[in-house]
This record gives sequence, C-alpha cells and structure tokens, in this order.
Amino acid sequence: MQCKNIFQNDIHFEFSTFNQVQRRYKVTEMQFSTQTYGQFLETIPDAALVIARDGKILLANGRACVLFIHLSTGPEKLNLQELVSEAHHEMLARSLEDFWNDPVPGSFDLMFLRSDGSEVPTRVEIQQLELREGLCAICIVRDLTEFNRSIETLMESEERYHMISAVASDYMFSTRVHGDGKLVLNWVAGAFEAITGFTFDDYIAHGGWRSLIYPEDLALDDRHLEKLKRNQPVVDEIRTLHKDGRIVWVRIYAHPVWNAKNQVLTGIYGAVQDITERKRAEEIISASEKRLTLIFDAVNDVIFLLTVESEGQVRFAAVNQAFLATTGLRREQVIGQRVGDVLPQASSPLVIERYNTAVRENKTIHWDEASENPTGKLVGEVTITPYRNEEGKCTHLVGSVHDITEIRRAEAEITKLNQELEQRVAERTEQLQTANKELESFSYSVSHDLRAPLRAINGFASIIARRHRAALNAEGQHYVDNVVLASERMGLLIDDLLTYSRIGRAGVRHEPVPLEEIMGSIIIDLETRLQQIHGILKIEDPLPVIIGDRTVVYQIFSNLIENAMTYRKSDVPLKILVSSRSDSKKAMICVSDNGIGIPSEYFDKIFNIFQRLHSDDEYPGTGIGLATVKKSVELLGGSVWVESRIGEGSNFFVKLPRNGR
Ligand code: ADP
Repeated sequence: MQCKNIFQNDIHFEFSTFNQVQRRYKVTEMQFSTQTYGQFLETIPDAALVIARDGKILLANGRACVLFIHLSTGPEKLNLQELVSEAHHEMLARSLEDFWNDPVPGSFDLMFLRSDGSEVPTRVEIQQLELREGLCAICIVRDLTEFNRSIETLMESEERYHMISAVASDYMFSTRVHGDGKLVLNWVAGAFEAITGFTFDDYIAHGGWRSLIYPEDLALDDRHLEKLKRNQPVVDEIRTLHKDGRIVWVRIYAHPVWNAKNQVLTGIYGAVQDITERKRAEEIISASEKRLTLIFDAVNDVIFLLTVESEGQVRFAAVNQAFLATTGLRREQVIGQRVGDVLPQASSPLVIERYNTAVRENKTIHWDEASENPTGKLVGEVTITPYRNEEGKCTHLVGSVHDITEIRRAEAEITKLNQELEQRVAERTEQLQTANKELESFSYSVSHDLRAPLRAINGFASIIARRHRAALNAEGQHYVDNVVLASERMGLLIDDLLTYSRIGRAGVRHEPVPLEEIMGSIIIDLETRLQQIHGILKIEDPLPVIIGDRTVVYQIFSNLIENAMTYRKSDVPLKILVSSRSDSKKAMICVSDNGIGIPSEYFDKIFNIFQRLHSDDEYPGTGIGLATVKKSVELLGGSVWVESRIGEGSNFFVKLPRNGR
C-alpha cells in the first residue's frame, strides 16, 4: 500500500519535527511544565492532547478544542475516553493499557467525537512525556477522513485500472533504445497478457516484440522501424504470434521518442490493439464477396448496379462480365458514368420513365428492349429492381437483361409457320371443297341420269310382271319380281342420293322457321303410316322458331321421325316424343323413341353415308338418311348427335341457331 507508506512517512515527518523540538529542549525537558508545553502544542498542526496515566486530559491545543466535543468547556476536567465514540471505549482502554505497560511510541486508530457530535475516524500517535507534573503521554490525533477518502479514490481508480486492463483489447507500451542500439520494452499496461499470452518478464525472456512477429511480416516491421527512426509515427496492422502459437492480428500505433538535439530515436511509445476478430470478420466478408463476384461474373445474363442520384439521374456503380462482353465496353468506360451516356437506348424518355417508376413506386419493372451491340442485335428482357436503404430512400437500382433473342426469333418463326400453315390449310380446304363440289355434281348427274333408264327398267319389268306373268314359268316369274324389286330399291337409293347431293346446291336460306309448322307438315305426311303401325307421335309445346331453310329443316326432322318409326320394337307400341330446350342463341330439339336402340360404338358412325347397322331384310333402308341429316344441320350452322341404349330407345339431339327476336 503505497499510500499508507506515504502517510506513514508524512506522520513520521511530523513526529520527527516534534522529536527535533523535543531533542532541542532535551536538556531542559524535565523542567517543562504543562503551561510551557501548552505553547509548544499550539505549533502542532494536528489535534494534540497531553494525558495523564489515568487518561485525564492535562493539555489540549487549539486545533483539538475546535475538533472535539466538550473540550471547549475546559479540557482539564475531562478524560480522553469522553472524546471517543462509545463503541471504541474498550479499544481505547486496551490501547492505553498496552502503551503504559510498554511506553514506546506507537499508534492506534479510533473514532473520536466531533464537537457537533458526529464521529470522525482518527489515528492516534502516542508517545511518553515527562513533565514536571509527572509522567504523561502526548497524543497527536490525526483526522483520517481525507486520508480515507483518498484511499477510497485510489482503490477505485486502481479497480478501474484493473477492470480496464481486464476488458481492454489493447495494451500500451514504452520501449527504450539502449546504448547498444537495441530496443528494450520497459513498460506495458492493459491487455498485454491477453494479447501476447506472456507475462512481462516471460515476454522479455522470450526475446521481446521482434521474436514474436509472424515471420512473413518481419520485413513490414523493418519498414516500421525505419519510419520511427526518421521520427515518423506508425499506424499499421501486423501479425504477431501468441504464446500458444496462434496468429494474433494487431493494429499498432507507435510514436517515436525523438532526441531533437542528437537527431536520434531514444524510444518508442504507443498502443497495440487486438484486431484478430475484425480481421476474421473481414476475411469472411471478403470470401463471401469473392463468391458473389464469381457468381456475378459467371452468369450469362447482363447484371448491373446503378446509383440513384436524382429523378432520371442514374449512374453505373457495378457491371458484370456479361455486360462488358455484350456491350464491348471496358469497365472504366462504364463505372461512374451516366446510364444514358453509356447506352443510347437508355436515354429515351420511355426508359427514363421506367427507372423513375421503379424508384418512385418501389417496384420491379420489366420490359423487352431491342439493342444493337457489337455482338449483334439483342432482344433482352430488362428487369429493374429498386433497393432502399434503412431510411427508406431508394439509393440503388439493380438491373438485369435476360437475352431472349432466340426465344423471340423462335416465336417469330412459329408465327410465320402458323401463317403459312393456315394459308396451306385454306388452300387445301378450297381444293377439297372444289373436289367435293365436283364429286357432288358428278353424283348428282349420275343419279339424275340413272333415274330415266331405271324408270324404264322398272316400268317395263312391272309390265312384264303384270301382263305377261302367265306366259312365264315359275322361275321366270321369280326373276321378273326380283327385277321389279331391285329397280324399286335402286330408285329409292337414287332418290336418297339425289336428295343428299342436292342439299345446299341451290344455297340455303337463313330465315326464321317456326318448328311447329314444320312438325305440323310432318305429322300430316306421316299420319297414315303412323296409324298403320299404331304409333304415337307427341310434340311437346312450345317449339322454338329457328333460323334456317324450311325444306332443309323439314328433311332433318322427317328423316329422324321416319327412322324412329322404322327402328321400332315389334312387340312394343311405338312412342315418339319431340321436345326442345333453348337459350338465347341456340335451340336444342330432341327426337326420342322407345325403339331398338343403337350400340354406343356406332353413335358417330351412323352419321356417315351408307353406314347401316341392319340388313335390308331386317330393316329396309339406304344408309343415307342420317348422313343427309348431318349435312343439313351443319349447313344451317348446327350440330347433331345421338344418345341411346340398346333395347331402350334413342334420343337424337339437333342444335340449331335460334331466332332471337
Ligand atoms: P337407313 O335408315 O336408310 O338405314 P340412316 O342413315 O337413316 O339409314 O340410318 C343409319 C343407321 O342408323 C340405320 O341403318 C340404323 O341402323 C340406325 N338408326 C337410325 N335411326 C335409328 C333409330 N331411331 N333407332 C335405332 N337405330 C337407328
């Protein structure tokens, strides 16, 4: 405890003064009375009391009278004990007893009572004194309040120092240049042990600073020393070796101590800061930056970073390799330049407005842009994304251009091919339509031309069968009957074919046709046959007015109803129902029967010409009826289909444009 020593010295000094005084008066000491001694006591700066063996106060100097309670009333009547805090009475008694047993100068600490009644910590220096009145003791009472406070302050500051040393990431040092020119560390404070791993003495023993520099950085240390020798301070980062062998990155702040007279370096002082953690963090960041740069430069898309200066003012902050390769520019021609100055197409008001929109509305903007580049024409999908800083201000724009030249080229190719294909289909359709028409007119001509000779065959065969029957034997009669039958069937076939090929030949009308009227005509025409087969035909009201051609519409529904009559079940009375459903544009009419039904695999096929599911003996027919229906319906812009179950009946649906009025 340095301070204690200082204090002791101090007291000692006081005492020696006193002793000197005593010594000076030694010869006459015995003649000193309390009175003359009293004057002497006033020369002592501290409180001084002369007490008798029983503790009775014989003398007190002025300082004591001011300080201590009761003394003002007259010290002679008091005992020292009355000036001391009650808690310390016992201690006082013991200390005095010890002193009188062996009266050598000594000291003890006590709490005295101040004149205002408060306690004051004191140190009592006691020494024997022989006065004329007898053997006494002089007590010099020193107030320790200030001393204690300074001790506390010192301890606090020491504590603070230790604390700072413990948590500090740096240490301070000073070195001296010895006579042989060697630099020797002579003082350190702070986190020296934490940074080096050595105590001060071990460090010196190990060889000091120079021996603990990372070998690769020795040259750097040399340069530092050179600077210091030129009286220049050094602030730099260097690698040192910890006692355990690991590398510790430090930042040094070294200042030369310069002897101006002789122009020589006499020492160095400064600080060393542990920056290993920071270096590690920097390494991690730089590694991740390197990786990002690698990705940035490896991607095929053009990527760039722009700094936003003001509305419409953007400059290139970074561009990737693909950017340079595409534009044929060098990095220094781009970085820091205005976008419009580097890329002419980016200076158009439209593009500037897009940048501004991205900044203003804080949203990603896309557009396609065509540009002329040294690498050729490029169509790119441009994307601009704004970056906002913590205050929400848009400081940067990140842009990318994805090359879609090939995609656009392929799209254009596809569009062209599609157009060509459509053209070819149209041509082909026209050719087919022409061929179809030719075929139809051919079949019409053939059927028409066949009609006359057939009528002749049928007429003459009928005459033979009727008038000359008796002249023929049984075989001859059979043949003639067959000729009549076959010619009749052929007549039907030719009629049906003529009907089929006639559809639409003269063009079709598209006029409102009330289906009720058509159904009325059909009922009249088929009534007799219906009665013969005991069939019922029910028409569900109301039937719509459709848009079409009366003759064609008649053909459609008479065909369907006739088929229902033909393909009925022999053992079940025939029921035919015509019903309808309509929306604003179309009418759907259904012709249902309870006939023999149709296998589902023939639902489509029966609409082909000559497609029959039965022999002529079972059910007579030509296989042209439904083909005629389909052709007619389609001519009117409608459609026809069937739903059926074998043995349960069939539903033929016809969808036709409806008269909206
Ligand atoms: P056709 O009746 O002259 O044979 P279609 O073209 O009118 O010729 O009919 C084709 C085939 O469809 C018929 O042979 C028949 O097998 C079947 N078919 C048509 N309508 C019906 C129906 N209502 N019920 C059962 N089968 C039918």
